[in-house]
Amino acid sequence: MLLLGATVVLQSASLRATITAFAPVYPWLAFGAGILLGWRFKRSQLVFAAVVLFAAERAIVAFPATGPSGTTGRMVFAAVAFLLPLDLAALAWLTERSMSSWAGRLVLGLILGEPLAIALLVRPELASLAQTLQHGIVTGGLPWTKIPPPALLAFLAAIALATLRFVFRQTVIQSSLVWTLVAAFLALNGDGPRTTVYLATGGLVLIVSLIETSHRMAFSDELTGLPSRRALTDALIRLPEMYTIAMIDIDHFKKLNDEHGHAAGDQVLRLIGSTLTRTEGGGRPFRYGGEEFAVLFPGKSSDEALPYLEDLRETIEASSFTVRGRDRPKVRPDKPIRSSGGRKKLSITVSIGVAEPEEIGVDPEDVIRAADQALYRAKRGGRNRVYVAE
Ligand code: GH3
Ligand code: MG
Ligand code: MG
Repeated sequence: MLLLGATVVLQSASLRATITAFAPVYPWLAFGAGILLGWRFKRSQLVFAAVVLFAAERAIVAFPATGPSGTTGRMVFAAVAFLLPLDLAALAWLTERSMSSWAGRLVLGLILGEPLAIALLVRPELASLAQTLQHGIVTGGLPWTKIPPPALLAFLAAIALATLRFVFRQTVIQSSLVWTLVAAFLALNGDGPRTTVYLATGGLVLIVSLIETSHRMAFSDELTGLPSRRALTDALIRLPEMYTIAMIDIDHFKKLNDEHGHAAGDQVLRLIGSTLTRTEGGGRPFRYGGEEFAVLFPGKSSDEALPYLEDLRETIEASSFTVRGRDRPKVRPDKPIRSSGGRKKLSITVSIGVAEPEEIGVDPEDVIRAADQALYRAKRGGRNRVYVAE
């Protein structure tokens, strides 16, 4: 959306003067904020991506690619167009941890050494290499783009690599790196303020991905992927007059943890979390805390929500969960070993307490309390059942 916005603004004739005036400050703002935020949030991947984009922008502005091929500006442009996509793709494959490994340091060292390499490239001794970067395999270049063929290939490979990385690691930050590559491509295809605006918008994409990531971290639960308790508090503010809250607690969960280990407990939490996302009747699940969940039915009375909650309880009761024996070897053995503990099928059940506001304007926290009391009765009533608040 940011790139689309930049494109629209760049096309608009009436905004042209404003853009030309704003373009010189835009990269300083976008990359300055990006580098600061990345540093504060300890995301060196983003800091480096912003630095690389900023350096590319500075280099292109400082050495305009005008005149015949072979001028310094042309050579700098060809080198930046070739290196920028490769740098961004390499950064997409680095993680916070791999950055301090020797391979990570080598990559970062190479990236930081690039200005020096470009400075050497424009010297007459390396003219033939510079020439290769400018013309490459197709002599004369392609008519629809000013990006030289070797750099086009680099872009193609980089976008493929970054996309592949996103497939393996689907985070907002990884997708932002793919979009940054698209921004870089658009930037190098244009000239003057166009280049600057697209590159700086790439920096803006990185900033937004950082904010988005922090928001997700605050509002979703890491283990189950469900919205967190903070998200529930938020949802409670926006409720219609009628709604139903169900509190769900796993039965004998402590025993399961004790007998099969905390990791098995966590797996059960994930399983229940994914079952809850399939709640029907407009029920919205949250992880309330520990092994307790909440499901919110906006606009539904407890009588209306009840059948969906019964369905949930039955689905969880019917789902089979297999735990691996505790003596399971870490490394796969050559021959199968009969585990003394063996695989066990566990039956998991939950108890559910349901409540709706007694009258209009009741504090939702009171409704939660009522649902909690109903849950307590469901436990005393024998567990694996749904009770509605009296
Ligand atoms: P009841 O049927 O009465 O609910 O019995 P219970 O054993 O489930 O009792 P309770 O609800 O008090 O159990 C809470 C236990 O849940 C304590 C703690 O060990 C476990 N637990 C809480 N959070 C987590 C978690 O994130 N992972 C794992 N593995 N266990 C958790
Ligand atoms: Mg509990
Ligand atoms: Mg419990």
